[in-house]
Amino acid sequence: MKSSKSKADTVICNGLLVLENGTMEGALAIKDGKIAAITTHECAPEANRVIDARGMAVMPGLVDPHSHIWEPTHYPEREDYLTGSQAAAAGGITTMIEMPLSVPPVTNRDAFTYKEGIVEKKTVVDVAFWGALTEKSTGHYAELNECGCVAYKVFIPYASPDYPHTPDYALLKSMEEISQFNGLVGVHAENADIIHNKQKEFEAKGIFNGAAHEQARPEIAELEAISRVILFAEYTGCRLHICHLSTVKARTLIRQAKERGVDVTVETCPHYLVLDTGDLEKHGGFAKCNPPLRSPENREQLWAMLKAGEFDMIGTDHTPYTDNDRLKHGNNIWKMPPGIGGMDLMLPLMIDEGYHKRGIALEQLAQLMATQPAKRFGLPHKGTLKPGCDADITLVDLNQEWTYSWRNSFAKAKCTHSPFEGRKLKGKVMETLVRGATVYRNGEIRVNPGFGQLNKRHS
Ligand SMILES: [Zn+2]
Repeated sequence: MKSSKSKADTVICNGLLVLENGTMEGALAIKDGKIAAITTHECAPEANRVIDARGMAVMPGLVDPHSHIWEPTHYPEREDYLTGSQAAAAGGITTMIEMPLSVPPVTNRDAFTYKEGIVEKKTVVDVAFWGALTEKSTGHYAELNECGCVAYKVFIPYASPDYPHTPDYALLKSMEEISQFNGLVGVHAENADIIHNKQKEFEAKGIFNGAAHEQARPEIAELEAISRVILFAEYTGCRLHICHLSTVKARTLIRQAKERGVDVTVETCPHYLVLDTGDLEKHGGFAKCNPPLRSPENREQLWAMLKAGEFDMIGTDHTPYTDNDRLKHGNNIWKMPPGIGGMDLMLPLMIDEGYHKRGIALEQLAQLMATQPAKRFGLPHKGTLKPGCDADITLVDLNQEWTYSWRNSFAKAKCTHSPFEGRKLKGKVMETLVRGATVYRNGEIRVNPGFGQLNKRHS
């Protein structure tokens, strides 16, 4: 093994390697941007560079299935590909699967190519694109598949003037079209009519506080929409992904669909696992997201569901806003924009709350945040520490205690009113490698804008 012929570019030694089926103390060798070998310390090849990972977990770089960067956009102050990807790197995310809610949305080849041109100049981690599932995309899905989109996002409720919700018939037709190339449809599942009218009732009564947001989007709205899209998936044969599940009551629906053979996966987000309606009462619009934060009992039951292997993945749903985007609406919860994020928070939160406080194994966290999203979204060369895969790796000090502040984040919008501001965490990302190159280490970005690459659908 020690001949110059097999000399590696980099060897990461002395770390705890987080593999698909467990952990091992050992060494990982990198050559030409790929993982070349996983060995014991004694068998590690010579290398030009040695990274000493003593005391650290060596995890696959995270594949975030749900990032909103929103570039190009009407709101350049919120985020862009440089700041968003730098924050991703600081959070151990090596591939962002980015949502199509840019302006214009990714509804055809021109929109895809335009966005690709921006990404190639700015991102420091790798990226893949969601395509848009809207009425305007009809007839363009095969073209978007050729471009390399990995999935198609639909809003059953209203999203924004630039990204309207999709009525049922258009959704059914789109799923038929997308099933032709075995594509994947991801759904924001809430019943539009229920939440629209519930909100109007609260407004008419003059209720504007944070807690009302959860009551105005009751679980039945989420359950009905999930059951509808499961039926559509079953009818059309289209692969389905439920984005950001908030309610544990959907557990049976999803379990039964899987048992019947419906090809459906489900994602939740860190905020549903670590925040609840108490935070909505305390932080008002700064804890507003859709679907909403639920009760503390529901939050804990989501962990039970996760432990039982009933979530396929966890995504950030990073949705950045400036503080002023909300402050300008005073105390009117209905006018404030929805979304909680933190590209750099997902892994530390899951280490702290999942690994330390609830005993979730590191290999299960790696499955949820790297391996399974990579597989589901057609990026089989990502998300796992295996020879031949891209050397996308994050080094985590499991025991380092620190305090999160948006002021220290690479994220562009410093959301200092966020429920996560000042949160104490145990577990910190120390270094992130993308295709073998150190992109982030100890608070610094080590590559130039444009180092990251756009990845296209593999399968
Ligand atoms: Zn989202």
